[in-house]
Amino acid sequence: MKRVDLHIHTTKSDGILSPAQIVEWASIKGVHAIAITDHDTIEGIEEAIRVSNSYSVSIIPGIEISCIFEDEEIHILGYYIDYSNKNILKLTKVLKESRINRSKKIINKLNDLGFDITFKEVQNIISNNGVIGRPHIAKLLAEKKYVQTVREAFDKYIGKNKPAYVERFKLSVQDGIKLIHNAGGIAVIAHPGLIKDENRIFQIIDLGIDGIEAIHSKHSQYDVLKFSEIAHVNNLIITGGSDFHEEFNKGIPILGDYFIDFEHLELLSEKAKSKKERNDDHIV
Ligand code: AMP
Ligand code: ZN
Ligand code: FE
Ligand code: FE
Repeated sequence: MKRVDLHIHTTKSDGILSPAQIVEWASIKGVHAIAITDHDTIEGIEEAIRVSNSYSVSIIPGIEISCIFEDEEIHILGYYIDYSNKNILKLTKVLKESRINRSKKIINKLNDLGFDITFKEVQNIISNNGVIGRPHIAKLLAEKKYVQTVREAFDKYIGKNKPAYVERFKLSVQDGIKLIHNAGGIAVIAHPGLIKDENRIFQIIDLGIDGIEAIHSKHSQYDVLKFSEIAHVNNLIITGGSDFHEEFNKGIPILGDYFIDFEHLELLSEKAKSKKERNDDHIV
C-alpha cells in the first residue's frame, strides 16, 4: 500500500526536524507522499519540495491554522494551497508577528514570576527562523531546570488560565476556512477527537468544511470509526496523519505511521482541482 501522511510539523513551527529531514525520513520509511502542515506558516513547503526532487516522496503543500470558535481553539488544516497567494502570505506574516509580541508578553509575565529568561534565549531554541510558540518557551524553562518537563510548564504556567498565559490573535474558524478556499485549497477539521464540545464539529461542517481528519495519532479506534462515519454521512473527505512533532519510537520518528492510502489522496486533489476551477470561473 502507498502510504500518505497528511499532518506533519517541521522546525518552521514547533516540530523537531527540518523540512529536509522530514523528507529524508519519509523516504527511509517508504512513505509515498506527505503534507507539510506547520502551524500558521507555509515557510517549510518550498524546502520540502526542493529536497523531495531527490527522493520518491511527493509533497502536498499544507498549513494548520489555529482558529477560534466560541472559546475553544480549533485547528483547521489546508491542503493544496497556493502558497504564493497574497492573502496567505499577508495573513501568515500577521500571525507570525502576533506570535512574537505574545511571546514577549509571556516572557515578561514569567520574569515577574521570578524566572530568569529572555526573548533571545527563546529565539535560540527555534532553529530555522520558524514561528514562535509556547512549546519553545516551555522547552527553555525545562532546559533551565525551572520545570522538569514541557508538560509541567504548560500545567503550571503557560497553559490556558495559568498565571503566564497570554491570548494571541486568532482567525475565526469561518475566516480560516475562507482563507484556505481563497488560496485554492481544501479545508479540513484537524484532530476532531481533541475538540472538547462535539457539537462544534457539526457547526463547523455547516460552515463549509471539506473534510475531517478521522485518522490521527491521538485518536482511538473508536474515534476513527466515529469520525469516518460523520464524514460519510456529510459527504466529506476523510484525511489522516501522524501530527508528528517530535515523537520517536525506538529512535524512529512516527511520521508515516498514521496515514491514508494514496488512492484516497486522489479524492482530495480532485476536490481541490474542481474547487480551483470554480474559483477561477468566478474571477473571470
Ligand atoms: P501556541 O500555538 O503557541 O499557543 O502553542 C500551542 C501548542 O502547544 C500546541 O500545538 C501543542 O503542541 C502545545 N501544547 C498545548 N498544550 C500543551 C500541554 N498541556 N502540554 C504540552 N504541549 C502543549
Ligand atoms: Zn504543534
Ligand atoms: Fe493541531
Ligand atoms: Fe498539528
